[in-house]
Amino acid sequence: MNREEALTQIAWHAVKQLSRAEATAIVYAFFKEPLKPSLRARLNITAIIQWETHTPPEDLRPGNPIYRPVLIDRMREKFIGAKNDYLAQYLREKMGVPVESVTGDEPDLLACPVCGYKTFTERGTWHICPVCGWNSDPVQEARPDEPVGANGVSLRQARENFAAFGAISREKLSQVEADGTQKYLREGGDAGEN
Ligand SMILES: [Zn+2]
Repeated sequence: MNREEALTQIAWHAVKQLSRAEATAIVYAFFKEPLKPSLRARLNITAIIQWETHTPPEDLRPGNPIYRPVLIDRMREKFIGAKNDYLAQYLREKMGVPVESVTGDEPDLLACPVCGYKTFTERGTWHICPVCGWNSDPVQEARPDEPVGANGVSLRQARENFAAFGAISREKLSQVEADGTQKYLREGGDAGEN
């Protein structure tokens, strides 16, 4: 199966697993974020007008089909950095799809400065690494010994903590993806990891 098809099937599967509360949170976030052209092209005109006026309906129903592209896009984002092997395993084990392998170019994302897994499309933009919980704070990354900023621990301490127990801090441990180290490529290759 090619990578595009795998991502499409997985995103759709993931949308169906969302609780109402999760889906509602995603749709509300949509109203507050810039609208990507690729998403806009797939949206119903009603949803676009709602977005342009930044007014979610008072009785927002996340199951309304006009929001389906929003949910699918968000779920797809969770997997765009994943290795082909991970996608194939996900299709087989979580969805029962008898796929031998997933093929196509894996994205070369930027390595997290803490854990080394390639999880960032941009660095220093306040995105959070799903493997270790590091919030990519440009100030902290320039001053690795200072425990200031978004993370509450210094970059250096975050690295030690990740090596010791798998997250930048005890507080972030519950927020990292349990199988994150299997999902993403690692800077310098995957030697020693599997
Ligand atoms: Zn990380």
